[in-house]
Amino acid sequence: MPTENASAEVLQREICALRQRVQELEADRAHQQQIQADLARTVQQLESERAQLEAIIQSMPDAVYIGDESGIWKVNEAGVRMLGYACADDLQAAVRVLGEQLQNRRADTGERIPAEDEAFMQALHGTPCVREVLVRRVQSGDDIVVRSAAAPVRLNDKIVGAVAINTDITAAKRTEQEYQQLLEAERRARKDAEAALHMRDAFLAVAAHELKNPVTALVGYTQLLSQRLARAGNLDPRQKRMLNTLIMQSNRLRRLIDALLDVSQLHMGHFTIQRVPVNFTSVVGAVADEIQTGLQQHTLACHTPDVPLVVCGDQLRLEQMMYNLLQNAIKYSPHGGHIDVRLEAEQQHALLTVADQGIGIPSAALPHLFTQFYRGSNAQSEQIKGMGLGLYVVHQIVQAHGGTIEVASAEGQGSTFRIRLPLRDAASPEQRDTCE
Ligand code: ADP
Repeated sequence: MPTENASAEVLQREICALRQRVQELEADRAHQQQIQADLARTVQQLESERAQLEAIIQSMPDAVYIGDESGIWKVNEAGVRMLGYACADDLQAAVRVLGEQLQNRRADTGERIPAEDEAFMQALHGTPCVREVLVRRVQSGDDIVVRSAAAPVRLNDKIVGAVAINTDITAAKRTEQEYQQLLEAERRARKDAEAALHMRDAFLAVAAHELKNPVTALVGYTQLLSQRLARAGNLDPRQKRMLNTLIMQSNRLRRLIDALLDVSQLHMGHFTIQRVPVNFTSVVGAVADEIQTGLQQHTLACHTPDVPLVVCGDQLRLEQMMYNLLQNAIKYSPHGGHIDVRLEAEQQHALLTVADQGIGIPSAALPHLFTQFYRGSNAQSEQIKGMGLGLYVVHQIVQAHGGTIEVASAEGQGSTFRIRLPLRDAASPEQRDTCE
């Protein structure tokens, strides 16, 4: 019986051991299954990442080339199209031996790039490289300009290949080239215009200078002749009118030549003004008086303060400024009208206002009034003669005196010019005769 019991016990132990082994095997199997499932998931994940990467590379608008010494083993659609191949296989077959197939040229000089200098080859040898190159497309044979950026691909510190991203910049280059050509044409045109302006100025200076003396003589002798004939008293009314016209026109000619001389002096930088104390009140009064005596269709009122307003400047130039403004006020009121001249002190300035009731100035003309040779459209359509120099000179005189000029006007509603000139600082009486 004890033997029987012992063998039953052994059997029991074996069964137990077997059960345990079965359990272990089952656990192993479950573990294996788990590993297999994980592996399948990883493979699937890798597959999807690879597909994503492929999709990204394929959908890149720039050409992507990945390869090594043996050739290009990955190219996207843009890369195939850029080089003019029908499909990736054609391209890969053609570029089997990289060094021999890449025969690009430098975009700036057109020189052939030696195979070992190609951006891709440089990258394969460990140097990242960005180049602008001329690439010949296989089918059409035309050149495109490509910006090629190549970099080595490293794996565990070892270069396993290179990647190049190429962008077609042909259109941008063409635009840049056209822009440069336009710039160059504009530079040439500007130079020509400057030369023409220089010639005009030189001509103006010589012509005005040469005309000045004969016209001065003409004006002087005409006036002398008129005075003598008037004294002799043997002029009939028609002859008087003719003589007056002669005097008026020769004076006009002198003024035009003076204006041209001023402009040519301004261009040459020879326009200088004196700086001495000037009684602006008497300048304004005297010029207004002188002009008033010759008025027929117009009336003129001049309001000046009782005290002298003294400015630092050039009396002749200030008189010229007054003449120009008043002559314009008369000329641009062709049907007559009232002209109002007013001088007053305004803080540290003398404020001169000249207002007329004439044809006014179109708003489009206002910003250009002080530009030389500019004339308002209504001045021309009304056939009022002029050269467009008077206000330019007035502006220069005002500026040279440290003052400002402004105009308020509308077409058909008269014009008002306001000039502000700094008053001489009267603080120190010992400086009364000087502007220092
Ligand atoms: P010009 O009288 O010889 O044309 P200005 O330089 O004196 O040259 O004047 C420039 C332009 O400004 C004139 O052609 C005219 O259009 C306008 N202008 C100047 N003064 C007046 C004014 N008082 N009334 C209307 N327009 C004026």
